[in-house]
Amino acid sequence: MTAKSILNADLHCHSLVSDGTLTPEALAERAKANGVELWAMTDHDEIDGQHRAAAAAKAQGMRYLSGTEISVTFAGETVHIVGLGFDPDDARLQQGLRNTRGGREQRAMQMAASLAKVGIQDAFEGALKFVGNPELISRTHFARFMVESGVCRDISEVFRKYLTEGKPGYVPHRWATLRDAVNWITEAHGIAVIAHPGRYKFTANEEYALFAEFKAHGGLGVEVVTGSHTAQEYLKYAETAREFGLVASRGSDFHSPDESRTDLGMLPCLPGELTPVWALLADRIQ
Ligand code: AMP
Ligand code: MN
Ligand code: MN
Ligand code: MN
Repeated sequence: MTAKSILNADLHCHSLVSDGTLTPEALAERAKANGVELWAMTDHDEIDGQHRAAAAAKAQGMRYLSGTEISVTFAGETVHIVGLGFDPDDARLQQGLRNTRGGREQRAMQMAASLAKVGIQDAFEGALKFVGNPELISRTHFARFMVESGVCRDISEVFRKYLTEGKPGYVPHRWATLRDAVNWITEAHGIAVIAHPGRYKFTANEEYALFAEFKAHGGLGVEVVTGSHTAQEYLKYAETAREFGLVASRGSDFHSPDESRTDLGMLPCLPGELTPVWALLADRIQ
């Protein structure tokens, strides 16, 4: 194995089982072509693609960890918790994720009604055309529809103008609790990781509470190097990992060749002084 922190691990990306545009097989092929040595596919609130992803990784001669990214509501904000190395057949985890997905269709209908009020018609049907998994309609699918229909030039413009808090297409939603998400992952023998902490609009106190409560519930890791962080945030969250005694993860958060800024396997290595999350998962690497 490569020295532990310079292993090309990409432990965060999405397939069309959630809001990515590629199949698990196409993602595995792309990851391998980009030099990824250890891969995890982490669809939102869904582990239905895990056996396919593991088989595709094996076919590519690439090591694999099971993965997911759970939507959580904490202090009124949506926070994402990545799970790695769990048993994908664990019934409690599957049920927890099913419950978390449960409100998405109704929320999507409310989003469409809200967009109709500002003149954007038929957004529910429009978004559905981009959906690979009927239980997993997300804001990303609405954004793709609104780019396709010419309402906005690109996905980030859609989020800026329509799909974020205070904007006409935004519908608040209550996701899983932090405690439940961490417990589902941990009880399925996986490791819970705070995804892209630099993206949340928390005050310093709220962020401290997130890390402290996450740790108290049994969470063990934090994404330090992710496609959502700046170089400065790599340093900031490396320090947070040390402060809270968390292991570090690395992942592109790749969604689509046309949309993602960061391709699979293309991020800088984790800072050498941190313990990488895969050091705790050696027996769960497939
Ligand atoms: P949802 O789970 O339906 O709330 O959708 C969340 C997803 O929207 C995230 O996982 C991202 O893929 C995407 N997203 C959120 N904010 C942005 C943004 N500013 N630009 C592009 N994509 C975003
Ligand atoms: Mn996404
Ligand atoms: Mn996320
Ligand atoms: Mn993600």
